Amino acid sequence: MPKKIPMRQCVGCREMKEKKLLIRVVKSPEGQVSLDFKGKLPGRGAYVCPSPECLKRARKSRALERAFSAQLPPEVWEGLEEQIKEVEPHG
Ligand SMILES: [Zn+2]
Repeated sequence: MPKKIPMRQCVGCREMKEKKLLIRVVKSPEGQVSLDFKGKLPGRGAYVCPSPECLKRARKSRALERAFSAQLPPEVWEGLEEQIKEVEPHG
């Protein structure tokens, strides 16, 4: 039996992807939204592909805000942009 791969939906393109390929954003039980690079923080998670296109779509559709029923602090957007820049080798 092959090991079951955990899949999550990207809030940008709405496609199911391997969880480990996605960036996790988490809202803590205290209501603080932050980036979760290790995928270990407690709370409600939402996922986005490390792709500028998906980040743009998520931003435009306010998918993350809706997923969390909360505003995303600017540093979360900045962190996402930075993370995606690093992953994307040629813009
Ligand atoms: Zn995506």
